[in-house]
Amino acid sequence: MRHQLFIDGRFVDAADGRTLPTLNPHDNSVIAEVAMAGTADVDRAVAAAQRAFPSWSRLAAADRGRILLKLADLIETHAEELARLESLDTGHPLKDSRALDVPRTAACWRYFGGMADKFQGDVVPVEAGFLNYLLREPVGVVGQIVPWNFPLMFTAWKMAPALAAGNTVVLKPAEITPLSTLKIAELMAEAGLPDGVVNIVPGLGSVAGQHIAEHPGIAKVAFTGSTATGRRIVQASSGNLKKVQLELGGKGANIVFDDAHLTAAINGSAWAIFHNQGQACIAGSRLMLHSAIADEFLERFAALARSIRLGNPMDTATEMGPLTSAQHRDRVLSYVDVAREQGGELIAGGRPPARDELSRGCYVEPTIVRARTPQDRVAQEEVFGPFVTVLTFKDDDEALAIANGTQYGLGSGLWTANLQRAHRMAREMKAGMVWINSYKRVNPGSPFGGVGQSGYGREMGFDAMREYTQVKSVWVNVDAQTPPWYPR
Ligand code: NAD
Repeated sequence: MRHQLFIDGRFVDAADGRTLPTLNPHDNSVIAEVAMAGTADVDRAVAAAQRAFPSWSRLAAADRGRILLKLADLIETHAEELARLESLDTGHPLKDSRALDVPRTAACWRYFGGMADKFQGDVVPVEAGFLNYLLREPVGVVGQIVPWNFPLMFTAWKMAPALAAGNTVVLKPAEITPLSTLKIAELMAEAGLPDGVVNIVPGLGSVAGQHIAEHPGIAKVAFTGSTATGRRIVQASSGNLKKVQLELGGKGANIVFDDAHLTAAINGSAWAIFHNQGQACIAGSRLMLHSAIADEFLERFAALARSIRLGNPMDTATEMGPLTSAQHRDRVLSYVDVAREQGGELIAGGRPPARDELSRGCYVEPTIVRARTPQDRVAQEEVFGPFVTVLTFKDDDEALAIANGTQYGLGSGLWTANLQRAHRMAREMKAGMVWINSYKRVNPGSPFGGVGQSGYGREMGFDAMREYTQVKSVWVNVDAQTPPWYPR
C-alpha cells in the first residue's frame, strides 16, 4: 500500500518523492509506504491553507458546523475500517479502538460541529454613550503536531475546535502512525470540506514538524508530545511570535487512601496505567498507597496485572497489545534496570512475554515496580508504557507532598470515601485534571491540559474555542453628539 500527502484537497506525493514505511507493531512488518513531507511540502500546505482562510473564516458558522457534523456521521459509517486501521498502525487492542477511540473521535467532531454557531462574543458594560463589543476571530493558519499514542482521537481534539472557530489547518501526524489521519482526510473531502482548509503532511518531526513550528505563514502552533520537543517548538516559534499551545508529558499520581473501596481502586488503578499499554500522558504511573492497605492492595493488583490478556491487537479477546514501536519498547524496558540500580523492587513483569507468536512484536508484560524513594528516577521520569511505580505514604500531608513532587502536572486521581479529604486534595493537587474515585475520564465538553512542565492551554470544551480565537474589542460612539477634541 502507498499513501500520499493531503494538500489543497488532493492526495499528492512529496515534492522530492521520498516515503517512510509505517510498521505493524504486532510483528514489525511493513503495512504501507507513506509519502514523507519535506519543507517544500509544508510550504505548499501553508500556501493552500492561506488561500482557503478568507472564505472558510467568513462562511456562516452554522455551515462550518454542518460539515463537521457530516464528518462525525461519516466516521460512524466507516467505524469498523477506522478501528482496524488504528489498531493495525498503533497496536491498540481492536476492542478499545471500537469501543473508545472511534466513538470518542466521532463525539469530538460532533461536539465542535454543534459548537460552531454557539460560540459567541460579548458586550462590555462601558461608560454611557459607548457600545463596546468583543468579536472572537479565528487566528488564521494553524499548525498542529500530534504524537503516536492516540492519532485518531488527537487529530479530532486538535482539528475540530480549530475548524469550528474558522481557522485553516496544516497538521503533521507522528511519523510512525499516519494512517488513520489520512483516512480522515479522505472523509473530510467527502463531507464537503473546501480544498485547502485542512492539509495533512506526514513527515519527520525534525524536518516537517520543525518547519511548521518556524513557519512565518502560520499564526499558531498546537502541539501534543514530549516536554523536550515542546521546548524546541517554543524556541522555533519565536520568529513570528506564534501563539503556542502545548500538551506535554505527565507522571500521574494515583492515590489510594486506607478508606477507599479497594476493589474499585484496584480495577481503576489497572485501567489508569495499563489501558493503551500505558502510552497515555494522563496514565496513573505513580501508584501511591496508604501503608495500612499497601500489602493487600499490591497482592491483588499484581494478580490482576498478571491476568491481563496480552496479544495480537486484532484479536478481540486481547486486553493489552504491543507498544507502538520497537524503539519505544526498548526504552520502556530500560527503566527496569533504572529501577534496580536505585534499589527498586520488581513486583511483576519487566520483560517481553515468553510466547513465540508475540516474539517479533513490541510487547512488554504489565510491569509493577516499587521505588525506594519518591525521588527515584522511576518515580520522576515519564516511562510512557505499561510500567507503574509504587510508593507508600502515611498521611494526607505526605501523600500531597509526594503527589506534587514532580515537574509535571497533568492527570491525577484519588480514591477515598471521605468527602472532605477528596475535595481538599483536589484543591491542593498540582494538576490540570483530578479524578475522584475514578481515573482517566475524558469528554469533549471537559477541558483537558496541564500545568508546569505538562504544558499550557486547554483542549476540549469552550476553552478550546477560546484557544483557537483571538479577541477584537470594537468601540462604537452611539451618542449623536459631535465629540470634543479632548475626551472628557
Ligand atoms: P515527541 O515529542 O517525540 O513527538 C510528538 C510529535 O512531535 C511527533 O509528530 C513528532 O514527529 C513531532 N516532533 C518531533 N520533533 C519535533 C521538532 N523538533 N519540531 C516539531 N515537531 C517535532 O513525542 P512522542 O514520543 O511521539 O509522544 C509521546 C509524548 O507525548 C509523551 O511525553 C506524552 O506524555 C506526550 N503526550 C501528551 C499528551 C497531552 O495531552 N498532554 C497526550 C499524548 C501524549
